[in-house]
Amino acid sequence: MSSVLRPDLPHVIVVGGGTAGLASAWQLAERGASVTVLDPRVAPHEDGSHGGFTRVTRHAYHEGTSYVPLVREADALWCSLESDPGELLVRTGMIEFGPPDEPEFVGVLQACEAFDIEHRLLDAAELRRTYPFVVPDRWQGCWTPSAGYLRVPACLGAMRMRAQALGVDVRTGVGVVAVETGRVVLDDSALEADAIVVAAGVRSLELLPTPDVSVSVLRRVLFWLRPKVEPAGLPVWGALTPSGFFYGFPPGHEGLSGLKVACHTSDAIPGLDEPVDPEALDRSVRTEDWAPVADFLRAFMPSVGLDRIEHRVCMYGATASRDFLIDRHPSMPGVVVASGLSGHGFKFAPALGRLVADLVLTDAEPQPEFAWAQHR
Ligand SMILES: Cc1cc2nc3c(=O)[nH]c(=O)nc-3n(C[C@H](O)[C@H](O)[C@H](O)COP(=O)(O)OP(=O)(O)OC[C@H]3O[C@@H](n4cnc5c(N)ncnc54)[C@H](O)[C@@H]3O)c2cc1C
Repeated sequence: MSSVLRPDLPHVIVVGGGTAGLASAWQLAERGASVTVLDPRVAPHEDGSHGGFTRVTRHAYHEGTSYVPLVREADALWCSLESDPGELLVRTGMIEFGPPDEPEFVGVLQACEAFDIEHRLLDAAELRRTYPFVVPDRWQGCWTPSAGYLRVPACLGAMRMRAQALGVDVRTGVGVVAVETGRVVLDDSALEADAIVVAAGVRSLELLPTPDVSVSVLRRVLFWLRPKVEPAGLPVWGALTPSGFFYGFPPGHEGLSGLKVACHTSDAIPGLDEPVDPEALDRSVRTEDWAPVADFLRAFMPSVGLDRIEHRVCMYGATASRDFLIDRHPSMPGVVVASGLSGHGFKFAPALGRLVADLVLTDAEPQPEFAWAQHR
């Protein structure tokens, strides 16, 4: 693949070479922009929001139907980076289950109906028969074959390689100290650019002089278990229970061996959404991290057992609404921020890169729920 640089387009510095940064660089370069990416580290790494090897991708988006076209666009772009199907996106399908009146479960079904997403409803008996889930009689499941998981290291590597093939200069070992209009400040120098994309994950807003919006850093723990009984045929799954959204992956060997399980959201877990300092992140497992997951497993997946073998601690950069922040800075011309991916942004990355490229290269309006004004 050769680069077709267009000198009429701006030179863009992308601050952050993680999920949103590499996607933005790739999409900008596809359109001919000259791009430099700066990051102190080489992604994947554990000091950000993409650690833990795998990420769920799902189409029946209960968080808001405006995400459905984006995930479809992203899916196609992920697949465009694959030499062989399944290299990046492993389409296992997904089973989501919960009480039929649980708002998130209702949202899954609404998204299926609104966007004609292939799905099948299961009653509790079929759920219990087919999967290792023990659920009350009135609960239901929704099977969507379009869902699956993304292999994070391969995805990041493929985006970087495609971007580099298009001429992007990816510099690692370079941390940005501050972003100003028209330039980024490094430790002992500064670099000028026509446009700057701030995609430094949980550290994005600290680089801006007057962020005027809020993104909290939240701590999440991923667990790997050695199941008592190997759950045959288990796809990606999500439990939309009254005590929270728990999810997991098929047993396998993606980075770590075992059955990966985690809690995404819960109003019932004290302190889960307490903001933390990324520089002082506690990487140990606390009682309050494991107890709710263990309670969930005891109640709904008893055949799996509680033999915990590994864990990873990761950070969400979360907005209050959990919608992303992808917009031009209101008072810094030429600066676009792509941050606040709120613990569910990985699957969308290539489509978010395209949104960033639109904001940098055209006078496109931001997607309404991602606009700066929504996060003040
Ligand atoms: C536990 C967990 C589970 C998740 N599960 C899912 C899921 O199943 N599905 C899904 O779609 N999403 C999921 N997500 C969310 C998704 O992984 C994140 O939203 C996404 O990876 C965030 O991308 P980012 O570019 O904002 O941050 P990152 O990918 O962390 O990239 C930020 C980059 O900026 C760099 N940087 C930091 N400071 C500077 C600086 N001063 N100068 C230059 N560079 C800098 C960092 O080194 C890093 O490489 C999950 C997140 C977590 C934490």
